[in-house]
Amino acid sequence: AKQQGRDTYEIYSADLDEALSTRVTLRNDLQEAIKGDQLRLHYQPLVNADGSIVSLEALVRWQHPQKGSISPADFIPIAEETGQIVPLGKWVTRKACEDALILIERGLRMGCMAVNLSPMQFHRPNFLNVLRQILEETGLPPEYLELELTEGILMKDTGGAKNILNDLRGMGVKTAIDDFGTGFSSFGYLRELPVDKIKIDRSFVEDVTSCEKDAAVCKGVITLARELGMRVVAEGVETEEQYRYLAKHGCTGFQGYYFAKPMALDELIVWVEENAGG
Ligand code: C2E
Ligand code: CA
Ligand code: CA
Ligand code: CA
Repeated sequence: AKQQGRDTYEIYSADLDEALSTRVTLRNDLQEAIKGDQLRLHYQPLVNADGSIVSLEALVRWQHPQKGSISPADFIPIAEETGQIVPLGKWVTRKACEDALILIERGLRMGCMAVNLSPMQFHRPNFLNVLRQILEETGLPPEYLELELTEGILMKDTGGAKNILNDLRGMGVKTAIDDFGTGFSSFGYLRELPVDKIKIDRSFVEDVTSCEKDAAVCKGVITLARELGMRVVAEGVETEEQYRYLAKHGCTGFQGYYFAKPMALDELIVWVEENAGG
């Protein structure tokens, strides 16, 4: 038994070492990725009930020279730990604004361009200046930009967050609360925040047609958004049943594989021209 315990420990320890060295390697490689040319953006349409495009969401992709494509779910947390999210986030915002302008200039009706923000970006003292500079340099009218924030970002310092949200609204930039329902926000504080849109987290949409509790959450959030004068979008809509159910209960915005997957810019242009009469 003692022998086995030792082996177990050694295996465990080797696994840990490997996990750690993978993280260290990724961290170093990420430095290169940001400076070099390994990051890409894909765009996923958000649509109305009639299928017309409301907006696009920019989702970052990492094409690693050896490891291939790495999911943002794997490298965004590392970038947040190391602070690399700041330059990475700047790159994403700039690139998304540039591509939005390309789409607008082609005459495609794409609504606005949504960019995901990490807490560290939002809470940096020069955040608004960085954003203004990117808008100025790219020439994208601020009305075309939407920022997706999580409940965590907004709850950390509600007063400070409210000021920044007001400034964004003053600039004309739109805001959405992402992954709504996962962060235990109080409805009272939500009422105080100048936010344009609520995105219902995919985890509630997944079983909306079979699980009464998830259905109750979705219906509750749809009602709440309406009462507060905010738009509402269901994330991760994969089936016609989910879409029909949510639409029947008053949901007006949809995002998910049932409508469109995230696509590279050239693919997206073809999709828009075929599906939305761009
Ligand atoms: P998110 O902001 O909740 O983005 C939605 C995720 O759901 C995306 O995953 C998208 O590809 C996926 N998705 C869309 N429709 C469906 C569907 O019908 N079914 C399923 N199962 N999934 C669907 P992705 O691209 O892997 O991104 C994962 C997360 O990484 C994002 O979640 C976001 O939190 C983060 N992320 C991505 N890009 C950025 C970025 O530029 N900056 C920051 N800070 N975070 C980012
Ligand atoms: Ca998002
Ligand atoms: Ca989300
Ligand atoms: Ca999510």
